[in-house]
Amino acid sequence: MKKSSIPEEIINKIKQIIENFDDPLTKKPLKIDDPNINLAFKDNHLNISFEIDPSKIDAYLEIKKKLEENIAKIKDILSVNVILTSEKKSHPEKKVARFLVNSKNIIAIASGKGGVGKSSFATNLALALKELGNRVGLLDADIYGPSIPRMMGVYEKPVANENKKLIPLERYGIKCMSIGFLIDVDTPAIWRGPMVIKALDQMFNGVEWGVLDYLIIDLPPGTGDAHLSLAQESKLTGAIIISTPQEVALADVKKGINMFKKVNVPLIGLVENMSYFLCEKCDTRHEIFSNGGARNQALQSKIPFLGELPIDKNLRINSDNGTPIVFSDPKSEIAKKYFEIAKKI
Ligand code: ADP
Repeated sequence: MKKSSIPEEIINKIKQIIENFDDPLTKKPLKIDDPNINLAFKDNHLNISFEIDPSKIDAYLEIKKKLEENIAKIKDILSVNVILTSEKKSHPEKKVARFLVNSKNIIAIASGKGGVGKSSFATNLALALKELGNRVGLLDADIYGPSIPRMMGVYEKPVANENKKLIPLERYGIKCMSIGFLIDVDTPAIWRGPMVIKALDQMFNGVEWGVLDYLIIDLPPGTGDAHLSLAQESKLTGAIIISTPQEVALADVKKGINMFKKVNVPLIGLVENMSYFLCEKCDTRHEIFSNGGARNQALQSKIPFLGELPIDKNLRINSDNGTPIVFSDPKSEIAKKYFEIAKKI
C-alpha cells in the first residue's frame, strides 16, 4: 500500500472508515494493512484496489458502495473509487520450477539497456565470488549479444557426457555456459525469440552443473520473455540491475525494477557502472555520464544501492582479451570494488 504519499491526517480518516467494516466472507474486520487492500492517492483522488476471489464478487458489491460513500465525505478527497480486482492478476502465481539447477543461490544480472556493462559485471562478480571461496557457475542468457565466452576467453564448444548432458566449459575456476553455444547468434533477433526458452531449458536442465554456491545469469537487456520465464520458472534468489548514471539509461531501469517486483523476484540491488573517470594526467574526476543517478533511483525504489564502478580502460582491454580484471589484476582499484560488491551480496 502506498501510504507514504498520503498525508497522515487523511490516511487516519480512511483507516477509521475501512476498519469499521467486516470482510463480507470472513466476517473479520478489514485492516488497512491487509495485503489485498492497496491505496493510490494522486492530486487528492483516491483509488482503492481490493483484491478478491472473482467468483465471490457479488458479496463485495455492497461494501464497495459503502466504502465509496463514506470515504467521499472526507474533506480533501475529491473522488474515490474502490476497484474490486482479481487476486491472481496482481500477484502472478509462481509456476512449478522448470529450470532446475543445484545451486544455493541463483542471481540474475539485468539492465534496462544494452552496453551499460552488464556482462562485464556478471563476469567479474562471478570471479570475485569464486575468489571468496564459492563454487560458481556463469550462465550467459544474453540472446542479443552473448559476450561471456569472449570475456572469459572460452572459445571451444561444450561437449556432452554419457548422460547426454553438456559439460560446462571451465575457466578461472568458473563453470561457463553460453546461449551462443546453442543458437546461431547471426540469426536476426526476431527469429531467435522463440528459441530462447528452449535454449534456457537446455542451459539449466541439459547441463551438468554439479553443485554450486552461486549461479550468475547474464540476462538479455530490457524486459522480455527470458526474464519472465526465469522469474516464474526458476528459483531465482534475486536480481541485480546494472545502469549507467544518465537519465536515458535510468528510464529503462524503472521498467526492470517494476517487472521484478511484479513477479516477486527480490531485488538484491542496483549498481552504477561508468560512474566517473579518473584521469591520470590531470588527476581529476570526470563524470562523463553524470553521477549518482542509480543511487537516487535505488533510494526512490527502496532497493539497496550496491556501489559505483568507474570507467576503467584496463577493464575494457581485459574484457576484450578474455582475462577479466578481477582475475588479471585483482589488486586494481576497480577489482577491489567488485570484491566489495561481492561481499555485500
Ligand atoms: P552489456 O552487457 O550491458 O551490453 P558489456 O559488459 O558488454 O555491456 O560492456 C560494453 C562495453 O563496455 C564492453 O566493451 C566493456 O568492456 C565496456 N565496459 C563495461 N564496463 C566498463 C567500465 N566500467 N569501464 C570501461 N569499460 C567498460
